[in-house]
Amino acid sequence: MKTISVVIPCHNEQDSLQPLFERLDGVFAKAAGYRFEVVCVNDGSVDRTLDILTGLAAERADIVVVDLSRNFGKEAALSAGLKTASGDAVIPMDADLQDPPDLLIDMISKWEQGHEVVLARRSDRSSDALSKRWSARLFYRFHNQVADVTIPPDVGDFRLMDRVVVDVLNGLPESRRFMKGLFAWAGFRTVTIDYQRDPRAAGKSSFNGWRLWNLALEGITSFSTAPLRIWTYLGVFVAAIAMLWAGWITIRTLVYGVDVPGYASLFVAVLFLGGLQLIGIGVVGEYLGRTYIESKGRPAYVIRKIFRRDG
Ligand code: UDP
Ligand code: MG
Repeated sequence: MKTISVVIPCHNEQDSLQPLFERLDGVFAKAAGYRFEVVCVNDGSVDRTLDILTGLAAERADIVVVDLSRNFGKEAALSAGLKTASGDAVIPMDADLQDPPDLLIDMISKWEQGHEVVLARRSDRSSDALSKRWSARLFYRFHNQVADVTIPPDVGDFRLMDRVVVDVLNGLPESRRFMKGLFAWAGFRTVTIDYQRDPRAAGKSSFNGWRLWNLALEGITSFSTAPLRIWTYLGVFVAAIAMLWAGWITIRTLVYGVDVPGYASLFVAVLFLGGLQLIGIGVVGEYLGRTYIESKGRPAYVIRKIFRRDG
């Protein structure tokens, strides 16, 4: 019998868990030919999430709870879950029922047809705010323009991955883990199915604008060095213009003599170039910071305890 692992990062999801497991159990009953394992990662919740999860894990053999020592963020929680999952296929899923569990059946049948990755694409994002949809579209467009890997738009972490794919992801050494990018980087035979994204079942989203902005920066700097390279071209461009201008000024001075005014243009040029240089240093700093953090080799997450009914 093949085992399917469902990996669920949970951060303050006390009210989502009961409806989530009701839906999941319905799906498990329908796919009776498989053994299911649910790996819940408690990512530093401050509500009753951990109590509820450990209660479930004490009763049911199919639930494993990984308790992280603090809030490490969704990307790290997912990594912890993937490491713990033992299934022949692994499906990461949000706890808030925005990823409909019924899709598991379709994913599994596609997997049985020989696809190693089954992506779930949100064909309709109307449950997301307009600002979120627009910023997401902008991010995918920009990211895919500059980065080496192409992240399929409107595809989240909800997907099925074969064991070979999960093993590759588990073997990646980086501690700053932008999962969408890592998933795309891994490759493998991929198929996409569409679904409708539901609104959150309970509780509220942990991702505000600032957090999403930082996630976007993380994604771009993790998979592209284009922001670093652009300064070389910009520098060449500005230097070339300066040379041309210098030539023009020399000729003009020889023909017409010196005219003193020019304070304003000088000032603008100095400010403009000063600003450009600061931005350039900032971008270099962004990458340097990431190299610095990565060079320490700290793990992406720390596990306090793993709860399992049978040992
Ligand atoms: N999550 C997490 N750690 C965090 C933030 C979120 O494990 O620091 C989990 C959360 O419990 C949920 C999933 O990540 O299962 C998606 O979070 P959310 O629904 O808040 O994001 P959204 O769907 O609004 O993008
Ligand atoms: Mg959500």
